[in-house]
Amino acid sequence: MTATRTTCAYCGVGCGIVATRTGARSVEIKGDPEHPANHGRLCSKGTHLGETVGLEGRLLHPMIGKRRASWDKALDLVAKRFRQAIAEHGPDSVAFYVSGQLLTEDYYVANKLMKGFIGSGNIDTNSRLCMSSAVAGHVRAFGEDVVPASYDDLDAADLIILVGSNTAWCHPIVYQRIRARCDAGAKLVVIDPRRTETCEGADLHLAIRPGSDVALMNGLLAHCREAGLVDEAYLAASVSVPENFWDSVGEGSDLWSVARTCEVPAADLRRFYELFAAHPRTITLFSQGINQSIRGTDQVNAILNLHLATGRIGKPGAAPFSITGQPNAMGGREVGGLASSLASHMDFAPGNRARVQRFWASPTIAPKPGLKAVDLFRAMGEGRIKALWIMATNPAVSMPDAGAVRDALARCPFVVISDVIAETDCTPFANVRLPATGWGEKDGTVTNSERRVSRQRALFEAPGEARPDWWIIKEVGRRMGWPGDFAYARPADIFREHARLSAYQNDGARLFDLGDKVAIGNADYETMAPFRWGGDAFADGRFPTPDGRARLVPVAQMPLPAPLANWPLTLNTGRYRDQWHTMTRTGLSPKLSRHREEPLVEVHPEDAAAHGLEDGGLARVSTPQGASLFRVQFSTGQRRSEIFTPIHWTDRQSTGGRTGLLPRPLVDPHSGQPGFKSTPAKIEAV
Ligand code: SF4
Repeated sequence: MTATRTTCAYCGVGCGIVATRTGARSVEIKGDPEHPANHGRLCSKGTHLGETVGLEGRLLHPMIGKRRASWDKALDLVAKRFRQAIAEHGPDSVAFYVSGQLLTEDYYVANKLMKGFIGSGNIDTNSRLCMSSAVAGHVRAFGEDVVPASYDDLDAADLIILVGSNTAWCHPIVYQRIRARCDAGAKLVVIDPRRTETCEGADLHLAIRPGSDVALMNGLLAHCREAGLVDEAYLAASVSVPENFWDSVGEGSDLWSVARTCEVPAADLRRFYELFAAHPRTITLFSQGINQSIRGTDQVNAILNLHLATGRIGKPGAAPFSITGQPNAMGGREVGGLASSLASHMDFAPGNRARVQRFWASPTIAPKPGLKAVDLFRAMGEGRIKALWIMATNPAVSMPDAGAVRDALARCPFVVISDVIAETDCTPFANVRLPATGWGEKDGTVTNSERRVSRQRALFEAPGEARPDWWIIKEVGRRMGWPGDFAYARPADIFREHARLSAYQNDGARLFDLGDKVAIGNADYETMAPFRWGGDAFADGRFPTPDGRARLVPVAQMPLPAPLANWPLTLNTGRYRDQWHTMTRTGLSPKLSRHREEPLVEVHPEDAAAHGLEDGGLARVSTPQGASLFRVQFSTGQRRSEIFTPIHWTDRQSTGGRTGLLPRPLVDPHSGQPGFKSTPAKIEAV
């Protein structure tokens, strides 16, 4: 039995795994003691990966409609229908909607086909729903989407601030590391409207009003300025400060006003300020509570402003740290898998477009950014998208206002799905389904939250007729008329090209540069050890902007909406500890299902009494977008008038718990990320 070093299938922590195959479809899983992300530790989801490698529910053959088809027939049809749509309606009439579950090599080929050969920016990813506000915030402040922190920084921090993150459940191995650092004396502050497991053992929990994060961060920064904690030397050397910046911070930022806006006790706020003042080595780790907001980018920049202005960046134990949800959200960002970036951290500026087109020697290049996820499905609902290819994701469940997304899919004349799962909530809309390989069968690279690139390696032969995503995409590219440009034989070929593009005429303009990997041989790619690109980013006080300086971005707290008469509650959504996305994999593990067996709506007991709800009874949660049933769980961890439901359940698993039907399709104006965390709602007993 040979042990294979690979990485976990789930979250952006990116833990290393040693997998030992024990049978045709069985494997023993252990944490990789040599992987820098986890040093041998695994959480419950990673530990039970071995329970999820069976072939139950797998899509094993290409399907045209309900009929099994040969690969040739299915691929020819996909290429023909995409070509037809482009010829009749132009390149922007087609789109790819892809996933942070794809490996970087898959993402690269999909992005190249859409932007360089089809000539549209219409490739977006479910990572849009997860961290695109962090991307937009990084670009505004640093000039490039660079996370300026590593997990080692957690070991060096004296103060760790978790904002909008139930880290104990959603990034458990990072949380274990934080706890270990706290055991050694570091302080922990949790900023979250809900009291979650992450708050246990914290030195301070600020249960702020949802959406008041900018007021909180600006208030802290105003206090820092008064207390002489702004690092004037660092600002002078490394940061551009717009003329109106300090005015924007100062407005309404005295302690009492901030406490009122955030609805937290002034004494707790003062304690937060004191902790910040006393511990310069500060990590502020933020996640979906910050990103999944219609003000997400401003919230990100409020955090980045705080770190830049106090010089708490580019030093050991001092940085803002966006932690990603999916296993390869970062890899997708690197290749240009978001509609808003071109490739290799380049935007659509004319010089970049010319450079990328030259590199690809492509017949065209996307002239502008494409449609972001919510706009993409809206355009589809309006009949503007004639052919869509969904790869490894389930937008009929995961998009906000998922009912409208289903209607949009029904209007699209041609829908292709490549997936490992035979029946998903999108299946009824598919004209063609293509069987893809899944975790344990595919081979390539992923990038985790700290910019560490690791190999994912195959443990099993591909089942049935399943093929890797990169192979499927390149076969369509070849059939659309570009055989020489998509002539990859193996993932290593794609990785080398990706590395070459990252370094092509870069000249230090971008930190993302894999120049030292352009000549990596096939054998070395197979054994490649995890590595971090970008090194100790910003340690020299230089940033990838034209003048080398970071930028403070003026951001103001927007007025918070009053409750609506018919929708008196605010719905927040999120994950459970032992489930992942729509449970297609974690749902296979009996052990993981024990943690939460059904979807619950968490309600403060006083709200429950006001609405006639019983603990353990059933309730219908409604919003202007839709309604679904949940079992009621009383929770004093909820703020009054706020309820919480999990994102995982779909029609296939349950008649209720359909959280995706409920959120509004409203987005942040900079990032296009939907605001999943605060939807006006009501609840009634059934
Ligand atoms: Fe996998 Fe994330 Fe758990 Fe690590 S923390 S084992 S990457 S799910």
